[in-house]
Order: sequence, then structure tokens, then C-alpha cells
Amino acid sequence: MGRIVLASSNRGKLAEFGELFADSGFEVITQGSLGVEDAEETGLTFVENALLKARNAASATGLPALADDSGLCVDYLHNAPGLYSARYSGGHGDDAANNLKLLRELDGVPTEQRGAFFICVLALLQHADDPAPLIAEARWHGRILDAPRGTNGFGYNPLFLPDGQTASVAELDTVTKNRLSHRGQALAKLHARLIELHASA
Ligand code: IMP
Repeated sequence: MGRIVLASSNRGKLAEFGELFADSGFEVITQGSLGVEDAEETGLTFVENALLKARNAASATGLPALADDSGLCVDYLHNAPGLYSARYSGGHGDDAANNLKLLRELDGVPTEQRGAFFICVLALLQHADDPAPLIAEARWHGRILDAPRGTNGFGYNPLFLPDGQTASVAELDTVTKNRLSHRGQALAKLHARLIELHASA
């Protein structure tokens, strides 16, 4: 496959993808560096939005395109902020305001009702009209803390305590986060799928 265009302009995610693809043999180019505008995320599900983003990047560049759509789903909030994770508080990508809103929504909610998961859906299209995209999904379960802890990474990291951990995501080092996270796990699944396909081609 060679070159893949990455349909994301979230700096936090780009840093993670860079590390996750470091020894993959693929050259990953960001859509921003090729002057591609972000697609409108008009889908009603993560998978629809991932496909919209990948198709937009493939169509604009003529290259295979990889997109992710991800977010945080909180049980008590019926899976909100969900698709609207990046713009939960109104402004797009205002992490501090989003975290504050989440804390307010869960004010007084006891620990056992603060379950949540991060979800990541990846879509890889060979070209804009590819009818058989590769899709990989992973979820990272945990719960929402009462107050932020740690400063690493982006988004809701300081408020998310993964199952089996004593540190919030913002207190984990990037290697550990990439191994455990929804994005890391989804990419591992996508890699496995690519290898399977190459082997049977
Ligand atoms: P997207 O760019 O539409 O996929 O929006 C994803 C949003 O979900 C981000 O802006 C964050 O608010 C949140 N999110 C997704 N993955 C993570 C993560 O690994 N850590 C913290 N927040 C995340």
C-alpha cells in the first residue's frame, strides 16, 4: 500500500497515530499537510463518521485513506457525550470546558454509576469509491473520576480511570496508553486484518 493519508487534524490523535505507525512500513501523511479540509461529521454513528472522513480524504488526494472517529460514552448519560465528545460544551475541542461540563453532569452520581468507555472506529478505504472498507472497532472501559488527575495527552484523559488501573489516562505514559487504549487496540486489529488480507492475496 505504501502511502496512506490520515484524515485527522486533532493534534493529540496525530501524535498517537505517529507513534502507533512508527514501525509499520507505511508512510503516513496527514490530510492537513496536503491541504485537505476536514469533512463534515454528519453521521449518526462513529462508523458513519469514520467513513465520511476517510472518503473525503481519499477523494481529495487520490490516496488510500485512514480515518478514525472516537469519543467517550458514559453509562449514566445514556452514552453521551458520544458523537459530540469534541464539542460537548459548545466550542469544538475545548477540553477544559468539556471536562467541566462532564463533571457537572455527574455531580453527586456515586462511583458505581460512573461507568464509561472510550470507543474508536477506524475506517481504511483504498480509494474514494472502495465498496469494501476495512473497519476496526475497540472500546476501553473504565469510570469517570470526581476530579481531574494528571496532565498527559488530551480530551477527557484526566477524568477517565481505566478498569484495572490506579492511574487516570492523563497519568499514564504514552507507551502504556497506546497499548491499552481504544485507539491502540483498534489499530492493532486493523494491522492484523491487513496482514491477514496480504497473506490471502
Ligand atoms: P473526533 O475527533 O470527532 O474523533 O472526536 C473525539 C473526541 O473524543 C476528542 O476530541 C476527545 O474529546 C474525545 N476522545 C477521543 N479519544 C480520546 C482519548 O484517547 N483521550 C481523551 N479523549 C478522547
